[in-house]
Amino acid sequence: MANTQHGGISIELEHIFPIIKKWLYSEKEIFLREITSNACDAITKLRRLISLGEAKDIDLDAKIRVILDKDASTLTVIDNGIGMTEEEVRKYICQIALSGAMEFIQKYEGENSDAQQNGIIGHFGLGFYSAYMVSDTVDVITKSYTGAPCVKWTCGDDGNYEIESNYDDEDGLIDGFGTAVIMHINEEGKEFLSEYKLKEVLGKYCAFMPVPIFFEDANAEESAESEENESKEPQPINDTEPLWQKNPSDCTDEEYKDFYRKVFSDWKEPLFHIHLKADYPLNFKGILYFPRISNEYESLEGQVKLYYNQVFVADNIKEVIPEYLLMLKGVLDCPELPLNVSRSYLQNSGYVSKISAHITKKVADKLNQMFTNDRENFESIWRDLKTFVEYGCMRDKKFYDRVSANILFEKCGGGFVTLDEYLDAAKEKHENKVYYANDATAQSKYISMFAAEGIDVILLDRVIDTQFIHTVEQNREGVKFCRIDAEIADVLKADGDKTENTAVADLFKKIAGESTKVEFDRLKDASTPALLNISEEARRMNDMMKLYNMGAGMPLEQTLILNTASPLVDKMISLVDGGNEALAETIARQVYMLSSLSQRQLTAEELVAFLSDSYDILGKL
Ligand code: ADP
Repeated sequence: MANTQHGGISIELEHIFPIIKKWLYSEKEIFLREITSNACDAITKLRRLISLGEAKDIDLDAKIRVILDKDASTLTVIDNGIGMTEEEVRKYICQIALSGAMEFIQKYEGENSDAQQNGIIGHFGLGFYSAYMVSDTVDVITKSYTGAPCVKWTCGDDGNYEIESNYDDEDGLIDGFGTAVIMHINEEGKEFLSEYKLKEVLGKYCAFMPVPIFFEDANAEESAESEENESKEPQPINDTEPLWQKNPSDCTDEEYKDFYRKVFSDWKEPLFHIHLKADYPLNFKGILYFPRISNEYESLEGQVKLYYNQVFVADNIKEVIPEYLLMLKGVLDCPELPLNVSRSYLQNSGYVSKISAHITKKVADKLNQMFTNDRENFESIWRDLKTFVEYGCMRDKKFYDRVSANILFEKCGGGFVTLDEYLDAAKEKHENKVYYANDATAQSKYISMFAAEGIDVILLDRVIDTQFIHTVEQNREGVKFCRIDAEIADVLKADGDKTENTAVADLFKKIAGESTKVEFDRLKDASTPALLNISEEARRMNDMMKLYNMGAGMPLEQTLILNTASPLVDKMISLVDGGNEALAETIARQVYMLSSLSQRQLTAEELVAFLSDSYDILGKL
């Protein structure tokens, strides 16, 4: 005999309902995760009881049904988990106004931040009540696995409930035991009365829940087509055994790639992956993928999805994953974290910083392993990897310390070297100094002069490279990176007469401007009359200012080096000494333009003047 009792959940509940609605407004869809994961928990609990031998006679075909009934404006989630007795309904569902939750609410009322939105629900066992964000009434029909009678609980959004003991489940919602949560969707929840929307939300939060979930449309017509397909088993919308839960040794390369394609809808193959499996006390699992980042302008935004026992929590939680690893794509399952994590909790959690340190170590180990075991392959993917590695090194000293020995530098002439290999080879000629170019074409003149002396020049052609070398310099005392147009390397210099000629120097100052320093030196390469140098520090400062949009930077002080080994310089000196200044100046102007040209692009005005001078000279030949 059904027996109906009335009750009011508690005076406090009246306060909680509006707060739940207000705080959770921006993330209404969370209710579906909460209700479905409660269903999943109920099944997990029953599975445990069965395995402990406490629920002997139960043959469990675990499943969760999500039923949309547009006509009735209801959404129903049914599980065949442990269910609840009437006493349990009173204890777990009715008594939600825990004093802790009330205190929390009173403390934070009015501060509508993310932290509270996430923090309150779940922490205080309010997950179930998130259903009221989208419902005006919720029914719970439940039957305990113990065989206790079925119970129906109904509660409106005013907090007044009704309990029907010995409920006659005439619609047969409960199959033996379990719980059905029927949400009578309100105006605000209308969008969830759509199959498309529900599948989208289930796909986001429940794609890997450990119990099969079946979507059903209560209003679907039995069409001829569906009769034809009758023999086909309905398919769950989720994958209950996601790859990360498996043993790495049982997973194939193809499985890792498939999983990546499916979860991230990225058709470019990842470079490689790391399967994480940390035991007690960290206890988390996951797979991280290195996407291809071949173009520096490509978005570096990755996607690391955080799960709690296969239930999706959130994307890109900066507090758990070191910032630079957010360029990666992957999944992390941390059952030690609460399902509803608040940012402030994460920031202050020692557990979280241990996870982060563990991941950093694993990533570094993997990189080092690849370097050691298959350097050829490591070199072949280095261009795709380096932005990530360099950024990581700049952000995290520990990461830098772990991987720095195996960071590669590309040589202008082809091939890769580590810093130590480079310095080792350079020991005799330029100890502790690394010469680099940032544009192999524009700086080809310098590169070829260095090559002639057997000096390797490395190529640092991305914006991040030049920031990265700063990190290296800070960590490697004595090592200096120097762009090839910053100074004349000693090995390029020759012995012999380096006498300055003031008149010629003045001539060049007149052409290049007073701010240009003119010096005389002797180079082994006699065919080059002049070279332009800009000091490394000044240029870096200038680049930095441009990068941070602090104006165009200061005008750069340049030094023009005149090569006393060059016959053209000799000629200018004798022309000036012989009083033929006009011809000396024509030559000087061309020499200055040509030296500028091998260092940078000419300005529009310079180019026009240079072309017209050149044609004049050709006319005189
Ligand atoms: P939490 O899940 O964080 O404990 P909830 O408010 O979501 O908080 O649920 C409160 C309690 O109600 C749960 O701990 C559980 O005991 C009970 N419960 C909720 N949903 C179900 C269900 N589908 N089957 C059995 N028990 C449930």
